[in-house]
Amino acid sequence: MSDLQAVFDYIDAHQDQYIADLQRLVRQPSVSAQGIGIGETAAMVEGMLAERGFDVAQYPTSGSPIVFGTRAGASSKRLSFYNHYDVQPADPLDLWHGDPWSAEIRDGRIWGRGVADNKGNLVARLSAIDALLKVRRELPLTVKYIVEGEEEIGSIHIEEFTHAHRDKLDSDGCIWESGGRDDKGRMEISLGMKGICYIEMTVQSVSEDVHSSRAIRLPNAAWRLTWALASLKGPDERIRVKGFYDKVREPTVAELAVLAEIPDNSEGEMKRLGIDSYLLGLTGAERIRRDYFEPTCTISGLLSGYTGEGSKTVMPARALAKVDHRLVPDQDPDEIFDLIRKHLDEHGFTDIEIKAFGNEKPGRSSLDSPLVHVVDETYRELTGNETIITPTSLGTGPWYYLNDALGIDGCTAGAGHPAASVHAPNENIYVEDYIRHIKHAAMIMDRFATA
Ligand SMILES: [Zn+2]
Repeated sequence: MSDLQAVFDYIDAHQDQYIADLQRLVRQPSVSAQGIGIGETAAMVEGMLAERGFDVAQYPTSGSPIVFGTRAGASSKRLSFYNHYDVQPADPLDLWHGDPWSAEIRDGRIWGRGVADNKGNLVARLSAIDALLKVRRELPLTVKYIVEGEEEIGSIHIEEFTHAHRDKLDSDGCIWESGGRDDKGRMEISLGMKGICYIEMTVQSVSEDVHSSRAIRLPNAAWRLTWALASLKGPDERIRVKGFYDKVREPTVAELAVLAEIPDNSEGEMKRLGIDSYLLGLTGAERIRRDYFEPTCTISGLLSGYTGEGSKTVMPARALAKVDHRLVPDQDPDEIFDLIRKHLDEHGFTDIEIKAFGNEKPGRSSLDSPLVHVVDETYRELTGNETIITPTSLGTGPWYYLNDALGIDGCTAGAGHPAASVHAPNENIYVEDYIRHIKHAAMIMDRFATA
């Protein structure tokens, strides 16, 4: 510990520099959805890794380049960090209290698009590497740094990269891009992500909109689509597509046990959303179990006919719906897509066309992995606070491709907090959380080297 104390002292003494490094990266916009600043930011991240002695290069994909660097360390252990250099668009700009690209510090927080998701974690971990190198001249283990540029648009080319460079990516654990603490300072350690099968359903019933007096004899696109949607899921919330649940992996006894430790925030959420109860009256442990281990089928958008002011008696020729399915291991989004197509055909909906958007596979790591123990133990030691271990996050990301597919166990750890406004106006992190994550990352590398 005394040796790490020297690293912590170094971090404290160089806070300003580490904060300035983060500000510099936040001030460089990198919006993947709009193709803004991608090349510049990839080059900047490549430079930051090169400055820290990494063997680093940009790997082209069919989309944005992936920056990948390795630096050997004292032990034979290897630890990967997965980050992304792209951010969400800053819009709506008028809701920001300052310039989203200024990275200004106000009220103990650093404000800016991408500072929480995930440039803060990206630079904090590089700062931990810097401090370890300055104090010890070498890293405790081999570090692999993977920084992609399309996370915010569904990591559409990550599989292409992991497939082509499988040999370079072997590792003993992976620290995920996201992570943070709750209001009470308890850090959530998450061990997986749901997958997604996102479809667009369209139907064209006749060639053009017609007077609704002809409704007796002509098919209505809005009805066709509504009936098709109704066939996918019933009011009992059960998805009716044959085979949909076949590959859902049962939670282990250990996974069910950690659910009991997850705080139940349902009252606050229900109050905020103005409801008295959840769907099906779900409460307590059963609500939490379903949140983490069950897949969903959600109508995300619907479009058809006249929706303006007053009335217009028209029969729509065309209707469209966006439907997302959050998947759990071991469901496969391509298989789910095929099952939905088959379901529609068998129920007389051959006229409904479906198109897939950004499928991602679900992934989940083991609760017993040495990395989880290290992240958990070091956070408690560093802060004196508890942690909350969750078997998976409810969100979606390329977990499967960087962990499950490579035989690696991953977990989250980071500088986030509940009011970080990720993806929203006024994104921020606390300076204190940022510095703490630098120290935590240094501790994780140090401890995992001998774990
Ligand atoms: Zn994001």
